[in-house]
Amino acid sequence: MYLKNSKIIVVKIGSSLLVDKNKKIRSKWLSSFAKDIKKLKSNNKKIIIVSSGAIALGCKKMNYNKVNLKLDKSQAIASIGQIELMNLFSKTFSKYKLNISQILLTLDDTEERRRSINAKRTFENLFRLDYVPVVNENDTTATSEIKYGDNDRLASRVAQITNADTLILLSDVDGLFTKNPKKFKNAKLIKRISNLDKDIKNINIKGTTEFGSGGMDTKIEAAKICNLAGCNMIIANGLYLNPINQIEKKNNCTWFISTIPKLDARKKWIISSVSPKGELIIDDGAKKALLNGKSLLAAGIKKVSGIFKKGDHVKILDFKNKEFARGLSSFSSDEINKILGCHSNEIRKILGYISKSEVVHKDDMVKI
Ligand code: GLU
Repeated sequence: MYLKNSKIIVVKIGSSLLVDKNKKIRSKWLSSFAKDIKKLKSNNKKIIIVSSGAIALGCKKMNYNKVNLKLDKSQAIASIGQIELMNLFSKTFSKYKLNISQILLTLDDTEERRRSINAKRTFENLFRLDYVPVVNENDTTATSEIKYGDNDRLASRVAQITNADTLILLSDVDGLFTKNPKKFKNAKLIKRISNLDKDIKNINIKGTTEFGSGGMDTKIEAAKICNLAGCNMIIANGLYLNPINQIEKKNNCTWFISTIPKLDARKKWIISSVSPKGELIIDDGAKKALLNGKSLLAAGIKKVSGIFKKGDHVKILDFKNKEFARGLSSFSSDEINKILGCHSNEIRKILGYISKSEVVHKDDMVKI
């Protein structure tokens, strides 16, 4: 099964799974979900949760109705509700000895390469510290032009930047149906989609579910992002207790299988769009290390040319000026000029601030 082979899994849960129609918190469900996460973690999976619920819980606390809220008010409500949301997670997850952390993202954090690399590193460090990051959109400052708008797309961007293997969208329906299952008895659940455009051509996406701020159309948008990122995606019914266990046992959901190998997707992303802004010339020792799959450290850099910022795309040349790799630089050209040839533990002293130790991380590098 695909889920068994997934190392990094992003799970998105919507507000309706946390709070029911009578504004009651679904505590039993959240506990069962925490149990699922515990089990995945004991199988060595790295888990990221993308959770909505800030506005729903803010409304619950303030006794407001979500439907009547204007944008600026809803931002204040999200600020109030986000703490409630994290408290709820913290209280429930600590019962299962699961550590959680909070990450609030704005659109630019995943769309801008430099910021997305920073975000990716934070996720990786949280995995190392054995924490489960709980992500939401930073609703308090996002305006309509700079907004993911729904957590389906936010979750797919998170899956993309973290190089996840599977994104699970827990929804209020079993998956994508041939017709709206709430209206048509003969609607059939589609179990597997491997060609997005072809397989969903005849389905009216707009009519298939009306729940949450993300309907089926935003889920399809998310599937497109995942497909390009080499990440599989599942739409499954999250209303059941132990929803992930249900997927593993019954597989009563829709799988969107990415047709692009993950590595190729990442490579494409690294070397796509912008042309290289500069060059790093490295010594033979560093070249050998890179060919063995290691990251590029400052010690191995002989020369830097061009002017570039952190996160920019650079060429990596060997001592004979032959290009053999490309990657995203974790330092600006100015910084590299100061630290080239130096040992990684000297960087902090030279620059005067803490930074990463790799100049180009192996995950951000493509050998050509
Ligand atoms: N970020 C919003 C919240 O926490 C929800 C967005 C969505 O449901 O898609 O309330």
